[in-house]
Amino acid sequence: MIFTLATGLWLLNQAPDDSVTEATQEIQVPHKPAQALPLLASEQPLPRASSGLITVHAHPAATRAEVTLVQPADLPYPIRLEKFYRADSNGDEQLMETVEMVGNRLMARFSPVKLADGTVETALSAMGAELGRQLDTRGLHVVNFSPEDPATLPMLLASLSELSGQTIFAEPDYIVRILESPNDPRYLDGSLWGLRNTGQQGGMAGADVNAQSAWEVRSDAATVIVGIVDTGIRLTHEDLVANLWVNPNEISDGTDTDGNGFVDDIHGINAITMNGNPNDDHGHGTHCAGTVGAVGDNGIGVVGVAWNVQLMALKFMSSGGGGATSDAITCIQYGIDNGAHILSNSWGGTFFSQALYDSLKDALEAGVIIVAASGNFTSNNDITSIFPASLPLDNIVSVASTTRTDALSNFSNFGQGSVEIAAPGSDILSTGFESDSSYVIKSGTSMAAPHVAGAFGIVKRRVSGRYLVSAY
Ligand code: CA
Repeated sequence: MIFTLATGLWLLNQAPDDSVTEATQEIQVPHKPAQALPLLASEQPLPRASSGLITVHAHPAATRAEVTLVQPADLPYPIRLEKFYRADSNGDEQLMETVEMVGNRLMARFSPVKLADGTVETALSAMGAELGRQLDTRGLHVVNFSPEDPATLPMLLASLSELSGQTIFAEPDYIVRILESPNDPRYLDGSLWGLRNTGQQGGMAGADVNAQSAWEVRSDAATVIVGIVDTGIRLTHEDLVANLWVNPNEISDGTDTDGNGFVDDIHGINAITMNGNPNDDHGHGTHCAGTVGAVGDNGIGVVGVAWNVQLMALKFMSSGGGGATSDAITCIQYGIDNGAHILSNSWGGTFFSQALYDSLKDALEAGVIIVAASGNFTSNNDITSIFPASLPLDNIVSVASTTRTDALSNFSNFGQGSVEIAAPGSDILSTGFESDSSYVIKSGTSMAAPHVAGAFGIVKRRVSGRYLVSAY
């Protein structure tokens, strides 16, 4: 499979002057002529719409596009929404697609040489942008810019891509989201509460993992580190606390003991705030963590697929269940740098990111398994890709969801060539974030992926191979 990066500039025909002011979101992008960005002498001027409305994406059937900037209460950065509408013969408009990306930053890989000699920073400065945080050691960076002008992001992407010899690629910082699905209605009656109270049923549900007998799940994975790349973990939960990974090089004293850029990263990080507090404010990550490795045989709560494992909390999604690809990459790199063997990813998006691909390729080269939810759109991933699940890397395991009767969950994506395995994902009881003794039921390929991540933990314990996928 070959991916191409679409950083080209796309203009929608006949975008009316007032289109941006029709936005109904919290903050409207004011319409004003875009500032001319300095271009290299050899470059052609960029095409401009007379209205000044410019989008990064295009929808082939759209008749109008709208760019809106919103500031979510749960995130420190604004989100840029590109909405594509189609008018029918009566002139009535229908929303066809919404693309979400961070409003005030993008990602770019620069030549390390040009980074070192300051050329890149100078060029960015001339464009009104600045070099942001480093995402890997090979030149991948965040680029920060002022988001008010809707033309700035597409202009920067186009300008950066033309900085020959300096920029290797530039792309939007897409928003990705958790892959949780509404629970099956039949469990939303009283039976749910019975399950929730006893907890025993959750253990039984875990025992429905087809792979369980083959992998002899009743064993521990005490030396195995599984990173939960998600909304965080409730670090004080009674059924998780004993299985949390502990950073051997950090001391909880308000300083960055190990000099890795994160203060007091004892159990992991929060990439949104760039500190060592990955406590869960959503619940999704805590649930996934419990499925991977809630403490087994301790007489309380539920039991994870791996009874004894080290859970690394890697938070990049907020209380709203969404996060930036760049922050996911920070989590992935942290996992690689700190010895994670498996990274569980119950999230996704529909736009290819070269930066994410590169980061997961780093994971491959470090021998790290990437377990990824395949998506809840009842669609065929052979046709419509979900990232990171669909990325063509040998260390990525794409997971579909099954029900208690071993059928494919009605929401689950599938794909002969693009989905590797199915695991329980409907009505899964696991640890909740509401209290230290909370247990809740959730559904989704989000819940299936951690079953596989936990099972790989067992395999890792038993088979010390570089590539666990081949062991499977
Ligand atoms: Ca630290």
